[in-house]
Amino acid sequence: MTEEERGAVRTEEENIMNWEEKVKRMVPYVPGEQPKRKDIIKLNTNECPYPPAPAVKKALQEFDYESLRLYPDPDCSILVEALAKRFHKKPGQIFVGVGSDDVLAMAFMTFFQSGEKILFPEISYSFYDVWAKLYDIPFEMVPLKEDFSICADDYCKPNGGVVIANPNAPTGLAAGLSDIEKIVAANPDSVVIVDEAYVDFGGESAVDLVEKYENLLVVQTYSKSRSLAGLRVGYAIGSEKLIKYMLDVKFSFNSYTLNRLALEVGTASLADEEYFRETCGKIVATRERVKGELKELGFTFPDSSTNFIFAKPTGITAKELFEALKKEGIYVRFFDKPVLREYLRISIGTDEEMDRLLAAIREIVGK
Ligand SMILES: *Cc1c(COP(=O)(O)O)cnc(C)c1O
Repeated sequence: MTEEERGAVRTEEENIMNWEEKVKRMVPYVPGEQPKRKDIIKLNTNECPYPPAPAVKKALQEFDYESLRLYPDPDCSILVEALAKRFHKKPGQIFVGVGSDDVLAMAFMTFFQSGEKILFPEISYSFYDVWAKLYDIPFEMVPLKEDFSICADDYCKPNGGVVIANPNAPTGLAAGLSDIEKIVAANPDSVVIVDEAYVDFGGESAVDLVEKYENLLVVQTYSKSRSLAGLRVGYAIGSEKLIKYMLDVKFSFNSYTLNRLALEVGTASLADEEYFRETCGKIVATRERVKGELKELGFTFPDSSTNFIFAKPTGITAKELFEALKKEGIYVRFFDKPVLREYLRISIGTDEEMDRLLAAIREIVGK
């Protein structure tokens, strides 16, 4: 029988296997639940409980709907220039994308091509290993210390790249800038990505180190501190060389990433620095108060520099508490994985929302 004849007598089942063998198989990242009900107290995805800046509302009201007829600017110039101004950088040092997830995915695609293992902490943003698998990048997950802090020395060995979330998620712990600089300086032959999704709530940003280190890429987002998770805007700051390589990949993938509305509104949001600082300040104040109250209830947690607390209850398992709170209409995040399953990640809401959370916890644990 020739090859061709054999193909013709394949059973139907064999044919199905045949195409399915060619499929990329992924275990996707699971985002936090977005309930349809409106009366939920939503403390599960680290969104900001306060509205976006008034300048955002104005930009939306003034938005020229007819302009949607046309493609948006592929260079995203107004937003790139506004971000460059805010961070005292050149426009050529800024890359923007559809949320920082898009920016990070693009950075993985661009910089982690050596075939050598990339390094990131074992407990960190759970998208990192998903992207590594998606792009066939070998990786090593580096254990954290007992107290969840990172050990900078662990990242000072040959690698194909490094990714560090600082402050880290879901632990909430921030690493000092000296540790970050140590890692960047020790790796002149690979790109180090610092994911600063939560930096505005108390971390030390590495943004100014990009002048000193050509291999450092700092990624930030509008989703947490700017109350604009629904707009999907993120950005990276780095050397002009790094950004040029990312743009080359972006323009090989999708030229029109940010839509017209996101460009306008994202730019307007930067005009309201005072509102931004005030909102972050309110969240930090609420977080510090809630830390005290949770401690009194017997919870333990790493010291958060973010807009969430990664807290371990006593007298009840995290899973039981998660489910009991859900019944009360209060959503927090539970990760059913080793170590993480002892904790709940609780986003910081308004003072009133946090009071209702604390009252519900007291009711549930009988305190
Ligand atoms: C939320 C988050 C992101 C992604 O946020 P976007 O909404 O895609 O900007 C990236 N990294 C970490 C650590 C996050 O928590």
